[in-house]
Amino acid sequence: MTHPTPVTVAYGDGIGPEIMTACLKIMQAAGAQIAIDTIEVGERAYLNGHTSGIPASAWDSIHRTRVLYKAPITTPQGGGYKSLNVTIRKTLGLFANVRPAVSYFPAIDTRHPLMKVMIIRENEEDLYAGIEHRQTAEVYQTLKLITRPGSEKIIRYAFEYTRANNRKKLTCFTKDNIMKLTDGTFHKVFDEIAKEYPDIKAEHMIIDIGAARLADRPEKFDVIVVPNLYGDIVSDIAAQLTGSVGLGVSANIGEDYAMFEAIHGSAPDIAGQSIANPSGLLLAGVEMLVHIGQPEVAATINNAWKVTIEDGIHTPDIYHDERSTHKVSTGEFADAVIERLGKTPEYLRTVKFSSSSNMRLIKLKPQPRPAKALVGVDVFLDWDHDPRDPALLGHLLEERIHTGGLHLTMITNRGLKVYPGEETQTFCTDHWRCRFLSDQYAPITHQQLLELLGQFAAAGLDFIKTEHLYTFDGQPGFSLGQGE
Ligand code: NAD
Repeated sequence: MTHPTPVTVAYGDGIGPEIMTACLKIMQAAGAQIAIDTIEVGERAYLNGHTSGIPASAWDSIHRTRVLYKAPITTPQGGGYKSLNVTIRKTLGLFANVRPAVSYFPAIDTRHPLMKVMIIRENEEDLYAGIEHRQTAEVYQTLKLITRPGSEKIIRYAFEYTRANNRKKLTCFTKDNIMKLTDGTFHKVFDEIAKEYPDIKAEHMIIDIGAARLADRPEKFDVIVVPNLYGDIVSDIAAQLTGSVGLGVSANIGEDYAMFEAIHGSAPDIAGQSIANPSGLLLAGVEMLVHIGQPEVAATINNAWKVTIEDGIHTPDIYHDERSTHKVSTGEFADAVIERLGKTPEYLRTVKFSSSSNMRLIKLKPQPRPAKALVGVDVFLDWDHDPRDPALLGHLLEERIHTGGLHLTMITNRGLKVYPGEETQTFCTDHWRCRFLSDQYAPITHQQLLELLGQFAAAGLDFIKTEHLYTFDGQPGFSLGQGE
């Protein structure tokens, strides 16, 4: 008998305790060797004054076990509460969000019976850095951060996952036709790493057409790797395509820690009625057992669960007059799964998991640092002149701002070049970007930038932010203005 693996368990809020109780009962009956350490996170922790929803004692447990099995929690309404999931993901470095989207047709109705897509979403970066500012009366900004090491980590993980699970194809989605530097980096890293995995078919699609194809023919996709925000959206669409978001699983994996949960929430509308479907959380538990090196128990549970739904034993959310035989409670569903432990499904796929230890988590190689030179600055202005005439602003800057070596090369409004050049029909807000560059990217000093900003201040112009312009090994590290 193997030594029990310590696992931290959070029963969560709403339907959380009902479904977690059901899942742990099934796991124990199946012979899972886990030593449970229970923590309290979520609503009660929030209301006890822990704004992150997680008290220090809970962190102690997670740091000790390194595996968290979490039921959904309720985020209280109103401001001041931080998302527990985002806090946990970031604190524990859970950079990969692995979301299987599998059809269980005909047991569960779907228009895509052959779907078996694995979505690997980057979990820490992108627009989820949460760096937002209001800059003018009219304009709000959020920062999208994509890093090279972050991209490399998730893309390597995706290739390793594809190989270890005998999958054949990895598709990358980005929008690098528009975001050439951020999404462009993700795509470039994907192409570079693909060369190290010649056994895997690697393809890239622009996210819009990729998502459209996924919605139309999901069976054509195998594994997908995707930056954070697109991954959030695409993985929910994929879960819906399988016929039931209620069965969706989310495994959050880092180098040292992992968290497993269902994708649905705490369903307060049905809490306490014992009608919630424990399947999403159970399938998350199956992934956890694979992760902690108990793939046989994981397969036994997965197969028994499939036999249960094949037998038409369904909770009300998936009950169907023609396909279902019994409408059961949460507890009755768990008992039905336990009765079927050891059986294999008739028409759904029987699974055999390979241990996750087959997967290599590859440490990043340090990259040579490029030669970086300061060559200019984008000065963002709040300028609410009547009329909002770009030529007026352009002439004002040409007249008042003179710093040796730097020249006004363009003004944009919402990214579109509005000066110099022909008048455009675009609507101009109160937020202007004024680009100053040196001749032929000659290096300049911070002192020159300070002089430039001093002149803006002297001219009474409200500069709200600056973005320095650098070259890296001589290549510009900034995009052109639209229409430039
Ligand atoms: P929800 O997923 O809780 O519920 C949406 C609908 O699906 C409801 O009608 C609910 O009854 C039903 N449903 C969800 N899970 C079900 C299950 N297992 N069995 C049967 N029916 C189920 O989404 P919501 O109502 O938007 O959110 C409720 C709360 O959950 C909010 O406080 C939200 O912040 C939280 N939430 C938590 C997580 C998490 O902890 N990971 C994820 C999403 C939402």
